[in-house]
Order: sequence, then structure tokens, then C-alpha cells
Amino acid sequence: MIPLAVPNLTGREREYLNKCIDTTFVSSVGEFVNKIEEMSAEICGAEYGVATASGTTGLHVALTAAGVKQGELVIIPSFTFIATANAVSHCGALPWLFDIDEDSWTINIDEIERSLKEEASPQDGKLIHKTTGRRIAALMPVYTLGNVPDMDRIMKIAKDYKLPVIADAACAIGAKRDGKRIGEFADLTVLSFNGNKTVTAGGGGMVLGNDGELCGLVKHLSTTARVNAEYDFDMAGFNYRMTNLQAAVGCAQLERAEEFVEKKREIRRFYAEKLSGIKDISMFPVPEGCESSCWFSGIVLKDGGLEKIRGICADLRNRGIEARSFWKPIHLQKPYLSAPKSGDLKVSESIWDRIVTLPCSTGITDEELETVIEAVGAALK
Ligand SMILES: *Cc1c(COP(=O)(O)O)cnc(C)c1O
Repeated sequence: MIPLAVPNLTGREREYLNKCIDTTFVSSVGEFVNKIEEMSAEICGAEYGVATASGTTGLHVALTAAGVKQGELVIIPSFTFIATANAVSHCGALPWLFDIDEDSWTINIDEIERSLKEEASPQDGKLIHKTTGRRIAALMPVYTLGNVPDMDRIMKIAKDYKLPVIADAACAIGAKRDGKRIGEFADLTVLSFNGNKTVTAGGGGMVLGNDGELCGLVKHLSTTARVNAEYDFDMAGFNYRMTNLQAAVGCAQLERAEEFVEKKREIRRFYAEKLSGIKDISMFPVPEGCESSCWFSGIVLKDGGLEKIRGICADLRNRGIEARSFWKPIHLQKPYLSAPKSGDLKVSESIWDRIVTLPCSTGITDEELETVIEAVGAALK
């Protein structure tokens, strides 16, 4: 079976892991934790990095540091991985769900502008969502598959409404927008090092930012909010630390980040070229102004339907190719059926039931890619 996306561990992972064991630094302090923070910040163009146990915990601590509290609302796109919404829930807040643009699969910025203008009003220095009476606490765009939306425009809106911006860049390492790297836009930007991401640490996350005070708060909150060596704490902090073992793998991976992202883009180009002749399908979009990190690749059917997608995936599996459907929108997920929505979220639904993701591991061979092309051609006949 050619897998969908598996880690590529052919660098110095083993050497660095052995170093952890030899030095006994296997837990949450160690040279690799410091190094992965520095390397991530450097690669993404941010000043600071704070390592976390996962992307989800990174998002949770970032939202908490940005002041998101019980009962409040955070704007997110409905077309995202469930963790984006869960991080909001973990703050006791609710996601306010927005649709995406057809040509980028990222949050619809016109709709954010319209909703804030028509559905929100300032009260006592707070921005209140009129129909629910809840405070709108933050804006959380998602860099879908490594596509970065027009962040200059999002940051301008956020500034006008005094909203902090937390970017879910979990799958976007290596992406750029208007020549800028992903760490240069939002107040806080969160990466994931989960096993299926372009760069993995087995599991882990990274909160990036450029404000020393805010990043200091993220660090403090994520490391139990301890103030001295005598077990004094000044907040209800989290134990969201990354271990030195994870960081060791992550550092070895980050040394090859550029190569991995280039491979992801190559896979995208290859599929685009070889599958362009097939009727009634298109490729995953890359918006203008964006150098996508092309985390996943696959096809978009002109006419979808879940049954059809399931059939194609089953057919591909029979041909030795792992293929899957992709993110089911948040507004259709059980925990979020009653979350407030902006508009009908029809684009999110229509993209979801037309996508088939295809193998895109950075270690995939040319021969395997050819095999995928043949199988897709046959499965779509
Ligand atoms: C992977 C992913 C996450 C979650 O990261 P974990 O490290 O698995 O917790 C969050 N958001 C998006 C968009 C992702 O792709």
C-alpha cells in the first residue's frame, strides 16, 4: 500500500534521540527544546518560539494568552480540522463559524468584514455579537493545506476592531504570502509537528510571535506558570511542554524543512501535470500572492457526493493506494451543531464532499507517483 502521508526519518533523528538518552535529558528541558524553538522561529520569520505538546495545545495556550475567556466567541472557518474549534472550546469559548473562499479554501474575508459591521456592536469597550450577546474575543484564520489568506487585509480588520489574531498554521510550515513568511503576520502563529505534517516531531506544536511580552506569557502559561524554584505559581497554568525527545526528532526534521516543502510542491506539480487531462476534476487551489506549502495534494471532483468519494477511495485502496476524504466542516460536527454561523457555509460543504486526498509523503518515489496516477486514471473511468 502506498500510504497517504508518513514521516520521512532518514536524517539525524536517531543520532539526536541517542543524545537525549546518553545525556538523560528526555523530559521537558534540554538542548533540543531550545533549539527547536529557535529553528522554528527562524524558518518562519518570527522573533520567538514556544514549543508545546501538540498543535492543539499550542492553539489553546495561544488563545488563552490572547485573553479568550469563558462564554466568548472566536471567529474561525468551518472548513478546518476539528482541533481549531476544540482549542476554542477548551477556553470555554464558542467558535463563530465562517465560510471559505472557493479559490483558496481559506476564510472568506468579505464575510468577516460584513459580519463584524452588521452583526457586532461595541459596548463598554467590548465588541459584542448582537444575536448571542457574547464578546467577540479573537480572529483565528487557518492556513488551509499551507494556503495563506490575504493576511494584510485580515490584520487591518483586526486592528480596526481591536481583535487579536491567532493563526492556525498547523500545516503551513514553509508557506509565504506576498513574500512574507508565516511568522510575520498574526499576533501568534501556531504550528503542528504531528506525524502527518510536513515536518514532524512525533507530536508537538510551536507558538510563534514577535511580541516578547505576549510570547513570555505563552511560555509561562504552557510551563505550569511557576514563578520560582519553590513551587510558587501565579496562574492556573498548563503542562503543555514538548519533551526533549520530541524536540530531538523535530530538530532533525527542521534541518530538512526546505527540502521537504520543495518535495511537497513537486508532488503537487506532478499531480497537476499528469492528471490535468482527466475530465471533470481539478486540483487543490493555490491562491494568488501565496506560495503554498502544499501540505496535502489530491483531486477535486466537479460533481461530488460522499458515496462517490467513498467509492473512489475504496477502488484506490484495492489498487494499493491509500486515499481519503478530507475535513468534514465544523458546523456538521456533533459538538458544534449549535455554534453560531455566519451565512450558509455552502462552500465549506461543497468542497468537503468533492475532495479525495492522494499519497504525498516526502519520501514518495517517482515510481510510486506514477503508480498513483495510473490508479487514479483507472478509478475515475
Ligand atoms: C494538524 C492540525 C491541527 C492539530 O495539530 P495537532 O498537533 O495534531 O494537535 C490543528 N489545525 C490544523 C489546521 C491542522 O491541520
